[in-house]
Amino acid sequence: MDVNARRLVGRSAVITGGASGIGLATARRLAAEGAFVVIADIDPATGQKAASEVDGMFVKVDVTDPNDVESLYAKTHRAFGSVDIAFNNAGISPADDSSILDTGIDAWRKVQEVNLTSVYYCCKYALPYMQKQGKGSIINTASFVAVMGAATSQISYSASKGGVLSMSRELGVQFAREGIRVNALCPGPVNTPLLRELFAANPEQAQRRLVHVPLGRFAEPEELAAAVAFLASDDSSFMTASTFLVDGGISGAYVTPS
Ligand code: NAD
Repeated sequence: MDVNARRLVGRSAVITGGASGIGLATARRLAAEGAFVVIADIDPATGQKAASEVDGMFVKVDVTDPNDVESLYAKTHRAFGSVDIAFNNAGISPADDSSILDTGIDAWRKVQEVNLTSVYYCCKYALPYMQKQGKGSIINTASFVAVMGAATSQISYSASKGGVLSMSRELGVQFAREGIRVNALCPGPVNTPLLRELFAANPEQAQRRLVHVPLGRFAEPEELAAAVAFLASDDSSFMTASTFLVDGGISGAYVTPS
């Protein structure tokens, strides 16, 4: 990665779900910009590997467990002396979450816990450190499905991301005068192992999805990481409570170019 910017020197950055996908790409990017990165993930094997790659710290965390989350920030503060950036990004999109007609209550609750309640815990326990510092940047991962509806539904996932978006907006407003910014990152579809599997298994169906993306392709995780680095840094100092769409134009399109 060719990154010249060093916007995050002297700052700590906690990344939930930092062992894979968007979180891992962001760990690399924030470390390259000088941040001390804390990888918070439920998977110790990939989490340790990611942390050592970026010379950071690994903390095994289940983001649905409030004790885990509380001690994540305490450990970060003990190790680094501040909690400057919180990228609350861990999320799941399991196959048993689909149409409301077929999705059972257990599948619904699981997705709400991992995608939405986790962000409530992460913000709740990161904010007091940021209040004491008088500064901080929180970035919560929502999705483009927080602002658009899909006919091929994942009902709990979409509802959870809508929740992340409005929670982020409200926190951004509430804590603005304390020097804390809170923004929601809304990625469009990203080129991850899951998506590549779909392409391999059903190229026609995958191609159909691409029709909706004006830029004509899926995002690379590094493109989301670049957006997070911007939101984490002082370059975005006048941005808070925003719906930060990085979606290849999907949400702006009525008809896409052929
Ligand atoms: P990923 O599956 O590659 O990585 C998710 C990480 O979260 C994994 O390392 C996993 O171990 C960790 N994790 C899962 N449950 C956890 C828990 N309970 N506690 C702690 N860690 C846990 O995912 P990704 O594609 O990089 O997605 C990251 C975020 O971006 C998610 O919130 C997802 O909903 C969102 N998003 C993804 C896309 C996409 O196309 N990939 C699009 C829009 C939004």
